[in-house]
Amino acid sequence: MALQFGRTLDNTRKLKNSQKAPRVLIIGGGVVGMTSALQLLNKGYKVTVLAKEYASPVSSGKRITSEIAGALWEWPPAVCGRHTNEKSLERAKVWCMDGYAKFMELAMNSKETGAFLRQSIFYFKDKVNNLPQQLEKMNELNHLPGFRHDVKLIDETGVNTDTGVVDAYQHMAPMVDTVTYMQWLYKQCRDKGCRFVHDEIHGLLRDQAEDLKKKYKAQLIFNCSGLSAKELAGDEDVYPLRGVILKVRNDGSLMPKLNHSMCISIIKEFDESDKEGQSFVFILPRGDDKLWLGGMVQPHQWDRDLTLDYPPIRKMFEKVKEFYPPLRNYGDDDVEEVLVGLRPARHGNVRLEWDPVCPSLLHNYGHGGSGVTFSWGCAIEASAMVDRVFKRPQIYLSKL
Ligand SMILES: Cc1cc2nc3c(=O)[nH]c(=O)nc-3n(C[C@H](O)[C@H](O)[C@H](O)COP(=O)(O)OP(=O)(O)OC[C@H]3O[C@@H](n4cnc5c(N)ncnc54)[C@H](O)[C@@H]3O)c2cc1C
Repeated sequence: MALQFGRTLDNTRKLKNSQKAPRVLIIGGGVVGMTSALQLLNKGYKVTVLAKEYASPVSSGKRITSEIAGALWEWPPAVCGRHTNEKSLERAKVWCMDGYAKFMELAMNSKETGAFLRQSIFYFKDKVNNLPQQLEKMNELNHLPGFRHDVKLIDETGVNTDTGVVDAYQHMAPMVDTVTYMQWLYKQCRDKGCRFVHDEIHGLLRDQAEDLKKKYKAQLIFNCSGLSAKELAGDEDVYPLRGVILKVRNDGSLMPKLNHSMCISIIKEFDESDKEGQSFVFILPRGDDKLWLGGMVQPHQWDRDLTLDYPPIRKMFEKVKEFYPPLRNYGDDDVEEVLVGLRPARHGNVRLEWDPVCPSLLHNYGHGGSGVTFSWGCAIEASAMVDRVFKRPQIYLSKL
């Protein structure tokens, strides 16, 4: 399809002023789609977001994955993530640092954005010096604000040494209150002229790309459909990593209020074949007065209809309490909500690339347990890929 706006657009101001600014259709209203939308809008593109579900400002049983995220910024490979090659790991590190910078900026206005910067403590059952991957990670993180590698952190933070914890380090890390943050993203996009459509697409996107572009007057399409990329991109490498979060209060009434996050791998390295999914524990302060407790990672499980009575969830609750004894004051009745979400994992790591068959279709999915962490980095890279197309229409024109 021919581009309608013709002229070479050599800077973003020109884009902004142009009545004919190119339009991008984004499929997916989760953190990946919405951050991509905001980044494109900031550069002057016009954007339509199409999604079957959006995040809700009020508590609803049908939350999208991006609302259920623990939403802790984590350096790759994340506790429940891994990378199958060096290139993917290096790319992820760039996305991660882009995200750190952006979330730090947003944390200056936490009330409005829902982004916070807090101490994040990682505990280990072996000395970090004996864990090559962790040692490398720690050495890459030691420039971050608040960095400290010190076994004293174990006693200072009151975790249970009987669980085998022998080492720990900490640093300041961004964390997001997903309900507030998703609403902030929507508002930013709406204020910048984003059009929102409620719809559900079925089948391969590449087969319907021309019709969709025509219908939504778009020149390019972003596929940010998370787990649905299995169908929309025909990608068999996409699969769910089911996770659970227990929401409890953090108002000082049942134990002293926690202002830092805690995370430990129960096993040395994340093991995807562990069907029970009890591979790590995390405790995350959320907003002003909530704690999110979690850690389950169950591969290939699709059912989200679980309660506290599901044995692995009960086991997870016990493990969290065992790890951090002050939580023993919390009983079943103190669990305000059991949140079950499906991390959109992909065997070949995150897919951020143009479709090889349909060049006006860009894929941005498969972020697994790191979608919030990578959201800004991926959006920045994706928007640069789009800039390249529109700066050199003579090269790309025929392909579009
Ligand atoms: C328990 C848990 C803990 C997590 N902890 C962290 C963490 O600490 N840090 C971190 O960075 N990440 C974390 N994550 C991962 C993070 O939540 C995901 O990586 C991220 O939310 C993925 O975002 P997304 O926008 O790709 O997908 P989603 O949020 O699933 O959004 C997909 C969007 O696409 C739309 N869509 C899907 N199919 C269609 C269709 N057919 N037609 C139209 N629209 C469609 C959906 O309606 C939705 O709007 C966690 C996840 C879970 C479940």
